[in-house]
Amino acid sequence: MRLRHIRGAEESIASSPYVVQEPEKQKGQWQQVFGNTHPIFIEVGMGKGRFIMELAQQHPENNYIGIERYSSVLLRALQKREELELPNIQFMCVDAKQMADYFEKGEVSHIYLNFSDPWPKDRHAKRRLTSPEFMKVYEQILAEDGKVEFKTDNRGLFDYSLEAIPQAGWKIETFTFDLHHSPMAEGNVMTEYEMKFASEGKPICKLVASPRQEASPNNIA
Ligand code: SAM
Repeated sequence: MRLRHIRGAEESIASSPYVVQEPEKQKGQWQQVFGNTHPIFIEVGMGKGRFIMELAQQHPENNYIGIERYSSVLLRALQKREELELPNIQFMCVDAKQMADYFEKGEVSHIYLNFSDPWPKDRHAKRRLTSPEFMKVYEQILAEDGKVEFKTDNRGLFDYSLEAIPQAGWKIETFTFDLHHSPMAEGNVMTEYEMKFASEGKPICKLVASPRQEASPNNIA
């Protein structure tokens, strides 16, 4: 995403009631933040937030948290957020690498990664949001039946993810190389990037992954 610093972005975010300030203080306390025990769904790298705000509108029975590390980008989402009556969504301006500092094991039900930056150079592989380093972070906070959903137009990043995610000990539950022409399209909510790429006729890839369960006397087939 091309970034232009917006003057005052940090100040607006620091004073916004829609941004969780000092999220490390909420670790293990997220039910109090939302005032209920509904499951928590997170989008990592939400950009301007179209996707997660649409989901929050469609599903009042869930809680949503949008994570975006750049204040100038998050500011755009906040401007949109202010026009909506949504009690079930909050934002965080943090690097997702630190998520295990903010959530206890099992506090998060679902993680969405949408059109994540590809970081094509090998030396930047650890920055990819589907790298083993990030999958380890997600595993530390997800519920036992939790899942990660990943969409991208970038075939190189997708092929990498199809290999890297199982190497990290996760199971790929399902995937497609052409989401919009597959059964997985049902109920699909488009992101900003997805709308742009779809209008250019680019196929969108999607996978769903879950942390593989350790074999135990109870779950050996
Ligand atoms: N998900 C949106 C969409 O599909 O329209 C935005 C996609 S944009 C290409 C990727 C976003 O992820 C950028 O806004 C970037 O700042 C954010 N991002 C990348 N790495 C991140 C990280 N480690 N923590 C938080 N946000 C991150």
